[in-house]
Amino acid sequence: MTAEPTLCAIVPPYVLDRLAEDGHAPAARSLALDAAHRTARLTAVPRQAPADRLERVISDAGHRERLPGRTVRREADGPVPDQSVNHAYDGLGATWTLFSAVYGRHSIDDQGLRLDATVHYGRDYDNAFWDGHRMVFGDGDGEVFGDFTACVDVIGHELAHGVTQFTAGLEYHNQPGALNESVSDVFGSLVKQYALHQDAADADWLIGAGLLAPGVQGVALRSMKAPGTAYDDPRLGKDPQPAHMRDYVQTGRDNGGVHINSGIPNHAFYLLADALGGPAWERAGRIWYDALTGRRLPADADFTAFARATVAAARARYPEPEVADTVTASWAKVGISPT
Ligand SMILES: [Zn+2]
Repeated sequence: MTAEPTLCAIVPPYVLDRLAEDGHAPAARSLALDAAHRTARLTAVPRQAPADRLERVISDAGHRERLPGRTVRREADGPVPDQSVNHAYDGLGATWTLFSAVYGRHSIDDQGLRLDATVHYGRDYDNAFWDGHRMVFGDGDGEVFGDFTACVDVIGHELAHGVTQFTAGLEYHNQPGALNESVSDVFGSLVKQYALHQDAADADWLIGAGLLAPGVQGVALRSMKAPGTAYDDPRLGKDPQPAHMRDYVQTGRDNGGVHINSGIPNHAFYLLADALGGPAWERAGRIWYDALTGRRLPADADFTAFARATVAAARARYPEPEVADTVTASWAKVGISPT
């Protein structure tokens, strides 16, 4: 069973909305493109590659809005002069490696799906997205956002939407949608931490660090360690993410605040990884991965249902009760009781 793919772009609509209202033309254009992408019929077309073998194809849209574009680098080809191509190639590889080496997953669909990406999509396009079967990167406008291939966690985030699509299939609205977003932030951050060999205590826990252009007042798109503090800029506004259920944002925008309320489960994961210590992809990441892929989580799971699934996953995998107790305590700190 595969859920309907949902188009998820890394920059939430409320950020681009605000920029567009301020007369920032690239944001307005990016919003229009995102709306068109959302209404286009998305179809997941798994193409088989031998399991356990990474296969990547990077294409170049040449600043047009047509996919896939011209093939510019295939698996095992050496680096090319275009750094966006190389960053996309390396980011897809880093994501595949985390899921394969740590969780034993054969690509994002667990059946060896070839990883395809297109770079230089559109002109000044302020976003990157997974469309159900490929990753698409804009170059950014250079004023607010830079090149979207620059952040390996953004690439991990987008491909993790593919993993969710092929597993729990969390619905993309309200709490299940915020969980869908959060799971992508969790694995996006873990892709980066694994690639950099960082323990939980050394990681920045930011999503999109380095994506904001110089001069923008902010460090990233989101912070899992301190939700709500990633940016506070006259043009972008202030990071709206809550870190606790008491600050849960009720809104009809952004599919019911999927990029906003994801701060709550994001922070629970950070608290768990911090409390357990060591590499976050090991125990904390494995518990989240087991909960997501265990086939027992309903597609409309709310935060409490997901919290319960993580406690059950911790109990199943780690016989020492301290681990599951730490999972329960981490959720409790963000105002969610799994029991
Ligand atoms: Zn997302």
